[in-house]
Amino acid sequence: MKTQEEKALAAVIEYDRLMGAIYECRKAISNPANECDRVVGGDDPWQSHIPDGKQTHLAEVFAGYDDNDGFMPMHCHYDHSEAMEIIGECEGCRKTFDAIQERKRLKTSLGTIKRTIRSIARNSTKGGAA
Ligand SMILES: [Zn+2]
Repeated sequence: MKTQEEKALAAVIEYDRLMGAIYECRKAISNPANECDRVVGGDDPWQSHIPDGKQTHLAEVFAGYDDNDGFMPMHCHYDHSEAMEIIGECEGCRKTFDAIQERKRLKTSLGTIKRTIRSIARNSTKGGAA
């Protein structure tokens, strides 16, 4: 059985690890356009572009689609396997997409660890400790 102090230390270490991992994801997500294999024109951001009025695979995934088959037109989002199909072999977009999914998971864990920290704090002040 862990003491309250050991639990608190473990929780803040986990909190710090998650914050670091989320930061790493943010770096990976921040500039996906240049790594998409649809982009032509090399590394110069002023020269590079995507031909035929297309966008990156990732932008296409997040734009979703309109479904007009039903009673009312509806804007829909692609599910995971559809997203994977659109991204296909594009490594740049896949890397970014994975980072976005990973960040979602990390943020869920971060919410859990925040609640843990708060409950440890509440339990230790309740005990009447000085
Ligand atoms: Zn791409």
